[in-house]
Amino acid sequence: MDIQPHIFFFPFMAHGHMIPTIEMAKIFASRGCRATIISTPANAPNIVKSIERSRQLDLEIGVVLIKFPSKEVGLPEGYENINSLTTIEMMDNLFVATTMLEQPLEQLLLEHRPTCLVADVFFPWANQIAAKFGIPRLVFHGTSFFALCADTSLFPEEPQKKVSSDSEPFVIPNLPDEIKITRQKLPDFLNKESELSGFARQVEESELTSFGIIVNSYYELEPAYADHYRNFLGMKAWHIGPTFLCSQGKEEKAPRGQESSIDEHECLKWLDSKKPNSVVYVCFGSVANFDDAQLMEIAMGLEASGKEFIWVVKKEKHEERKEEDWLPEGFEKRMEGKGLIIRGWAPQVVILPHEAVGGFVTHCGWNSTLEGICAGLAMVTWPVAAEQFYNEKLVTQILRIGVGVGVEKWARLTGDSVKREAIEKAVNGIMEGEEAEEMRSRAKALGVLASEAVKEGGSSFTNLTSLIEELKLQSTASDSNKD
Ligand code: UDP
Repeated sequence: MDIQPHIFFFPFMAHGHMIPTIEMAKIFASRGCRATIISTPANAPNIVKSIERSRQLDLEIGVVLIKFPSKEVGLPEGYENINSLTTIEMMDNLFVATTMLEQPLEQLLLEHRPTCLVADVFFPWANQIAAKFGIPRLVFHGTSFFALCADTSLFPEEPQKKVSSDSEPFVIPNLPDEIKITRQKLPDFLNKESELSGFARQVEESELTSFGIIVNSYYELEPAYADHYRNFLGMKAWHIGPTFLCSQGKEEKAPRGQESSIDEHECLKWLDSKKPNSVVYVCFGSVANFDDAQLMEIAMGLEASGKEFIWVVKKEKHEERKEEDWLPEGFEKRMEGKGLIIRGWAPQVVILPHEAVGGFVTHCGWNSTLEGICAGLAMVTWPVAAEQFYNEKLVTQILRIGVGVGVEKWARLTGDSVKREAIEKAVNGIMEGEEAEEMRSRAKALGVLASEAVKEGGSSFTNLTSLIEELKLQSTASDSNKD
């Protein structure tokens, strides 16, 4: 008898991790598995909303709750997601809180005995917990093969520690292409020993001892790096993305992460009134947060470029104030009809594929990067933190679908400062001229390949089939061991 695998998904509490994990759960469920997402109480309502439609379609997908120790680490009650936090200290506390989830996770696995646990890369301790029950643990990173290769290649040789200055470029060892980077574009913990360096080593080890790694990418996007990761670096990996393509209809795309701050129809109506490829979409994901001075530079750069735009800013509207401190005087009046500022959360995957949108100024978070590629957009790359500087290299050097705005320094939250002239130049570079056209057409071709990859018979579809088959075998083997 064919067994139905029951997969547990345990995402890190940040939209950039939770969104693709929910999508993964839907994909597994659509392929006949039972999917259960582990959530904390405050994150659950958004997850439940995101899976509502899948449940109406009779997919077996559910949520189980795990208590989140906010109080124990000094966070206010209900602060259970990186995106609701405003300081690095609070974010560090949230990380500490996640390390207290071992015991509750163990309890859940004991009760439910799933076939497999897909746990976030930030939970390296999940390997041991799953092993107690003979359950295979898969790691979910949520990044590109390219970034995975770059990161893994730095570990043994640490070339960043052998250069004489933060700005001296060095080559990342053994990659299929010559990729140069500087120390200042890498996370601090890779450059000097800190608590996080120890954590990064735990993550590396847990990858090696896990059942394997699920990658939200597709083979045709980065074949050399997909091969390198598996064959040269010896990692066991399955690519099953782009996961966001699992939600095709607009009604399915809508509830992602959190409620949009703008009515989607209003936003689409605005775009409908624009010419093809005339609008640049500017958004820096769910975590990066710029100070007022940087926002002012962005506003001036956009105005100087003369391009129409949608700009997502993580600010509330101050009803009592006529002008915002972070906007040049009279900006919104001058930009009426030309630029749309979304304060808060944008329906990004609804906006990007609209034919009026031609370019994307992005922080190179992997989800946004994939969404931009699939929409066939040329990109201005403006990395801030995490592995975003690697993704920038992939976009500008390997795929040649973007231009860098010129950020030089990794910064955890607020970003390196960029001047208005650089912003104007980069925006014009992706919105007008032959090169911009070429970038868009390369991106469009990659977008077509993405849609094919997730269709029946496509590379991501087939890779997922192999993974599910392997999990079934594993489950049968562990059942017969019990007999
Ligand atoms: N996103 C969105 N609206 C926003 C900001 C972000 O829908 O206003 C979504 C975006 O489409 C992407 C995710 O949030 O799927 C952000 O993930 P990414 O990896 O790009 O960046 P992170 O937020 O992790 O830095």
